Amino acid sequence: MPDGFDREHLRGLVTVTQTPRLEIRNLVRAFEGRRVVDDVSLTIMPGQVTCLLGPSGCGKSTTLRMIAGVEMQDSGEIWADGQLVCDTVFRVPPERRGIGLMFQDFALFPHLTVAKNVAFGLSGSQEDKRARVGELLERVDMARHAESYPHQLSGGEQQRVALARALAPQPRIMLMDEPFSGLDNRLRDGIRDQTLTLLKEEDTAVLLVTHEPEEAMRMGDEIALMRNGKIVQQGAPYNVYTRPVDRATVSFFSDAN
Ligand code: ADP
Ligand code: MG
Repeated sequence: MPDGFDREHLRGLVTVTQTPRLEIRNLVRAFEGRRVVDDVSLTIMPGQVTCLLGPSGCGKSTTLRMIAGVEMQDSGEIWADGQLVCDTVFRVPPERRGIGLMFQDFALFPHLTVAKNVAFGLSGSQEDKRARVGELLERVDMARHAESYPHQLSGGEQQRVALARALAPQPRIMLMDEPFSGLDNRLRDGIRDQTLTLLKEEDTAVLLVTHEPEEAMRMGDEIALMRNGKIVQQGAPYNVYTRPVDRATVSFFSDAN
């Protein structure tokens, strides 16, 4: 190979030509004349976790709801795997977007067993469904609770079942809105790590919303810092943390500690 054209360099070029799993372009949403999401653009590759980090009320959940398709943008586009999912005239319905959702208050169905909760969104033969449910419950360490009901589980266990349920149909994209904020500190780190491992294995593109810098630092390959509806800084966690763009970012990081 010629000098200056090493393998690392080639790998960089290959990455650039990959199609993003999720791309949002210039997304805008206003309520009563106020832009709560103001020209937001993001690109997420397969297997990448991007944390949308910002204070309460800055527009994170509204951004996520537009990507999920349960809220319409005023302008801007959403693309998945190089295909248009939604602009102001064309719209793929939420259930056909290949998106998995995990929210703090996205409760399990109380009247269904753990196994039936995980099987809920699956199609295919009974045998295939059983195999997929068994595999996922094994991977989140909940196989022995397959026949339990949600109220018989701890908060952390319920969250692990919710993760298995969201991943069961093999979503292309996973949207997570403060998924760990209801859990106590003792459990949280373990579940975060387990969640990351599973998401990476499935090669899902993840957009994880949080208001906690520490969570974004721990989980994100990339952090997109949001304030007043805008992305004010974006990059690797270490870079965002060590080179904040302005004073407001410095105090956001330090107030949280
Ligand atoms: P975050 O998730 O960052 O806390 P949200 O996206 O939930 O922020 O909300 C951003 C802003 O938009 C907030 O000021 C909120 O009150 C406002 N908002 C969200 N949804 C609506 C709605 N349906 N009608 C009016 N205002 C809304
Ligand atoms: Mg929110």
